[in-house]
Amino acid sequence: MSLPTRPLLVLDLDETLWHGVQVPGGLTLLLRPHLAEFLTAVSTAYDLAIWTAATEDWMLEGLAELRTATGFDLPASAFFLWHRERCTFRRNAEGGYSFCKPARKFKARWIRECYPPERILVVDDWAENYACGYGHLVRVSEWRGEEGDDELRRLAPYLLSIAGEPDLRRLEKRGWRSKG
Ligand SMILES: [Mg+2]
Repeated sequence: MSLPTRPLLVLDLDETLWHGVQVPGGLTLLLRPHLAEFLTAVSTAYDLAIWTAATEDWMLEGLAELRTATGFDLPASAFFLWHRERCTFRRNAEGGYSFCKPARKFKARWIRECYPPERILVVDDWAENYACGYGHLVRVSEWRGEEGDDELRRLAPYLLSIAGEPDLRRLEKRGWRSKG
């Protein structure tokens, strides 16, 4: 039996990997604690991609800062960098509108040829983003700059422990904190 394809880990940015704060004269990015160790660890077993509901400018500016701080060049290594234009805009449960990340986009042929849907995980702080694709989701807590946060330190060993699962979508991932 052949080994399953190396899985793809699709990362959200805002409040998952970093938090942008308004300062006089612009925005400053705070990187979530343990981010560099997290990326180092998970990239041993997963290929990485980005999907954010933020604008392309914000994404690229943030990823450049991330590279400076951690040495991780995601624009150079990520399988894709998806931003707001890859999201859909639709009415949410509260009656307002929000951006969603339709998981059906993972079924595009150019993606499926490298990563079948059952080998794709997403890490996001906002489950509603993936209302049509919960099977992919590993949900993390929303991070707004709190010190002492250890979500990423705990998440890395969990993700490494499941990377070899042939069907990541069927795996129950909601209780991941007690399994890592
Ligand atoms: Mg987010």
